[in-house]
Amino acid sequence: MEVVETVDRFRRALDGERCSGRTVGLVPTMGALHDGHVSLVRRAVQECDAVATTIFVNPLQFAPHEDLDRYPRDLEGDGSIAEAAGSEYLFVPSQREMYPREPLARVTVAVMEDGLEAASRPGHLDGVATVVTKLFAIAGPCRAYFGEKDHEQLEVVRGLVVDLSLPVEVIACPTVRAPDGLALSSRNAYLTDAERRAAPVLFRALSAGKVCIEAGELDPSAVSGVMRDVVATEPSFRLDYAEARPGDGEWRLFVAARLGTTRLIDTIAVPLGAVPLGAVPLRAVPVGR
Ligand code: AMP
Repeated sequence: MEVVETVDRFRRALDGERCSGRTVGLVPTMGALHDGHVSLVRRAVQECDAVATTIFVNPLQFAPHEDLDRYPRDLEGDGSIAEAAGSEYLFVPSQREMYPREPLARVTVAVMEDGLEAASRPGHLDGVATVVTKLFAIAGPCRAYFGEKDHEQLEVVRGLVVDLSLPVEVIACPTVRAPDGLALSSRNAYLTDAERRAAPVLFRALSAGKVCIEAGELDPSAVSGVMRDVVATEPSFRLDYAEARPGDGEWRLFVAARLGTTRLIDTIAVPLGAVPLGAVPLRAVPVGR
């Protein structure tokens, strides 16, 4: 695996791969790699000839009070993990390399879902959109792998590709979880032992929402209420949101909460096909909904 620090070298390396007829897979990350990231790299290795993992803790997507300074960093460990997963390149630009000056141009995205991350972290998704656009501009035509866990981020990236005609195919990958259901996240490293024991309540809340929908509940606020009640069983959590959003062919359930100084998010989809035929609604749906 080649470790690349400059934009120029990374661009030339991936151009070289394509010139040799090889397809490129890109896995953008902020490092502190875990098995969730590894699943993205492995999928990319299966589907592409040359895979590049990128590690960049992007200041534009952190608000001043957030965890930019303490975000876990372990370049050496990350190098071994990325290489073992089959990555051929590891792009690790410095902040100066990515942002040699205060950016004149940034990417802003319209709010796609009311509430949720856009409301809880104003500016966050714009910061993500800016860095992902830069990474795509540097990497060139490729398949890019993103996790379902950060569902709004995934939707933003899909939107960028369409709206800005970027030569990238976005591939969504399922969330990798610990055996107790907690979605793997670099931020889990912040949790104390007691917090780690409490953390799976987020997945339990999503699962309770799913059971409720599968039993025939049709009212999103009722499903959200069930999820909120489950999170409330862990008083150490401060809830940002627990929301059920019906969509085409599936519902999507979202939860975000703070445990001490750590903010965790999670989401699952509930395919409508999973709702048994003839399921009896748990409560009447008011006319007009
Ligand atoms: P991050 O380093 O947290 O910015 O994540 C980099 C990429 O890995 C993003 O596309 C995330 O959605 C994805 N990712 C993070 N955690 C997981 C997980 N537990 N399972 C699958 N993908 C994940």
